[in-house]
Amino acid sequence: QEVSKNPPIEEEEEEEEEDEIFGSTGFEALPLSCTRAAVEKMGFSKMTKIQELAIPPLLEGKDVLAQAKTGSGKTLAFLVPMVELLSKAKFQQRNGLGGLIISPTRELSLQTFEVLKELEPKQSIGMAMGGTNRRNEAERLEKGVAILVATPGRLLDHLRNTRFIFRNLLMLVIDETDRILEEGFEDDLRGIISILPKHRQTALFSATQTRRIEDLARLAVANPVYASVASES
Ligand code: ADP
Ligand code: MG
Repeated sequence: QEVSKNPPIEEEEEEEEEDEIFGSTGFEALPLSCTRAAVEKMGFSKMTKIQELAIPPLLEGKDVLAQAKTGSGKTLAFLVPMVELLSKAKFQQRNGLGGLIISPTRELSLQTFEVLKELEPKQSIGMAMGGTNRRNEAERLEKGVAILVATPGRLLDHLRNTRFIFRNLLMLVIDETDRILEEGFEDDLRGIISILPKHRQTALFSATQTRRIEDLARLAVANPVYASVASES
C-alpha cells in the first residue's frame, strides 16, 4: 500500500519536467552535414527546446545569447553548429584555432570535450586548463588545435604567452557564462575577449539570466538572437 501512495505524483512531476525541456522536432529537421551521422548515433528522438531555439540561428552564422537550465542539452546546441562551421569553412590545421569553448571548470571542460570527440572525427581537438601540464598544451597549440575547450585563466595565459595562431578564429562559445562570472573570472573573460579577433561568431550560454551577462554580452556579441527557455524553478 505504501508503494501506491507516492508514484503518481512523482510521475506527474517528471512529465512536467520533460515538457519544460523537450521540444517537438527531431534533429533530422536540421540542415546538418558532417555531424548528422554522429548525432543520429546518439539516438535522441527529439531536440530539447534550447537546441531547437539555438541551433538554427547558430547554423546561420548569427550570434546567440542562450539560456536554459542545467541538464537541457546545451552542449550539443553549441558543439553541433561549431563542428558544422569548421567543416563548411574547410578549416585546416595550419589555420590554427577555429573554434573555442570557454568553460568554468576542469570537470565541465572534460564533459564538453567528451561530446566533442563524438562529433568531430576530422579536426584536431584539445583542452587547456589549470592544473595540467602547461608546456604540453603549448606544444599542441603550436602544432595546431582546431577546436579547443579551455578554462579562462589558462586560456588567457596561452593567448598571452604561447605562440599559436588564433587570428582565424571562426567561433567563440562561452559556456556556463553565469558561473564563470560568479566564480570571479570576469576580468579574465574581458581580457580574453579583448585579445581574440573581432570577426567571429559568438554564443554565450548560461543556466540563468543575469545583469552581468548582459554587460558582458555588450562586449562580446553583435545583434544577438535571444534563445531563452524559461523554467519554473
Ligand atoms: P546542459 O549543458 O544544459 O546542462 P548537457 O548538454 O550536459 O546539458 O546535456 C544533459 C544530458 O542530456 C546529457 O546526458 C545529454 O547527452 C542529454 N541530451 C542532450 N540532448 C538531448 C536530446 N535531444 N534528447 C535527450 N537527451 C539529450
Ligand atoms: Mg552544460
